[in-house]
Amino acid sequence: MVAAVCKDLTDDPVDEDAFLAEVRAFLDQALTPDLRKAGRETIGVHSEIGAARLWHRRLFQRGWIAPAWPVAHGGAGWTARQRFLFDRECARNDAPVLSASGVRALGPLLIEQGTPAQRARYLPAILSGADLWCQGFSEPGAGSDLAAISTRAVREGDVYRVTGTKVWTTGAHHSNRMFAIVRTDDTGRKQQGLTFLLIDMDSPGLTVTPILGLAGDHEFNQVFLDDVRVPVANRVGAENDGWTMAKRLMALARSNNTPPALVRRVLMRTARDMAAIRDRLEPSMFARLARLQIALDAYEQLELRSLPTGRADAADPATPSMLKLIGTELHQQVAELAMEAEGPFAAASLQALDLGLADLDHGAHVTAKHFCVRAATVYSGTSETQRNLIAARLLSA
Ligand SMILES: Cc1cc2nc3c(=O)[nH]c(=O)nc-3n(C[C@H](O)[C@H](O)[C@H](O)COP(=O)(O)OP(=O)(O)OC[C@H]3O[C@@H](n4cnc5c(N)ncnc54)[C@H](O)[C@@H]3O)c2cc1C
Repeated sequence: MVAAVCKDLTDDPVDEDAFLAEVRAFLDQALTPDLRKAGRETIGVHSEIGAARLWHRRLFQRGWIAPAWPVAHGGAGWTARQRFLFDRECARNDAPVLSASGVRALGPLLIEQGTPAQRARYLPAILSGADLWCQGFSEPGAGSDLAAISTRAVREGDVYRVTGTKVWTTGAHHSNRMFAIVRTDDTGRKQQGLTFLLIDMDSPGLTVTPILGLAGDHEFNQVFLDDVRVPVANRVGAENDGWTMAKRLMALARSNNTPPALVRRVLMRTARDMAAIRDRLEPSMFARLARLQIALDAYEQLELRSLPTGRADAADPATPSMLKLIGTELHQQVAELAMEAEGPFAAASLQALDLGLADLDHGAHVTAKHFCVRAATVYSGTSETQRNLIAARLLSA
């Protein structure tokens, strides 16, 4: 399986020293102490929203916000190796973690499948950070069985009238736009009657209700749509071809869901924390740390080698599932080790964050991270779903 997705990297040469010097000079100057702090303290899928937006703008101004996009659309035109090095340097320097929905998911889909008008309207605002996107796929009755979507869109002239509800919508409360799949036909196979729409969050009839996570954080929401009017011009792909669009978007985005650089941040932080309290830790904890480091190195190589010409063109349909599975499970193992290393302090309740006691605050932070990362093997397709996809691919090979 691994052999099928690995490619020779010799055709991907990079002057690493020069490139790294340029990247490090930029990070030294652009990453303020506040931005580094926000990066270090990230618990959820992106850093504190103000810091994430500021960091997004700085990368945009430098021309580095979309390293994997074609240059013609505002991308950096970097090789896979350069993107890998850049992500690793960002992690090493505690750069804030950015929201992925625009740059890493919808943008590549619009470049591939959007109309010229959609690309002209939406891509610049994704690049600049003016638009923040959320993903409206899941519904109370449609999770792993995503094709069971029942939010209905009825065409009336130049608009679709959309009614239904979306759930677990990450970042809907920060976003001004949402991409969604909705039901436009229920006469055939359930996958065939779906349509992919781009919806403005300030549309009349659309409301957002918060859902709190296990760690007490507000990251996701329920979105209600009550006769929301969406222009037909906001449809990506053909009517009733939304399933194809959604699958393509997931393939483009999934490999980036938990990139190695994200895991490396947590591993580095865990290693630093463990070094600081090494006298009270069993040697076996360091053996676990070393094993996770080796696993991360292997994961980095797998990602790098499986996507040599761009994250958008994974060589094997099962590759995004493999990367998602490996990355998220590794992420959880590192977060679990960090929590165990804190020992009794990790049991501190989250209220300890307000007590001003360094050990308890730290323990509470590590516990919150551990709780948050439990969700990583659920969102963007559960681990069971990924294993099903990989197995189906193996059986059909
Ligand atoms: C933190 C977080 C953020 C999220 N953000 C978003 C978002 O921004 N936008 C969005 O649209 N959705 C989002 N989701 C929703 C997410 O995509 C769904 O939770 C996920 O697809 C699983 O669906 P479900 O929760 O309905 O669980 P279910 O589908 O009900 O699954 C329950 C359990 O059964 C297992 N299972 C189901 N079917 C099978 C099968 N065929 N074979 C084996 N096992 C199976 C699953 O693996 C799981 O363990 C988010 C979820 C979380 C936790």
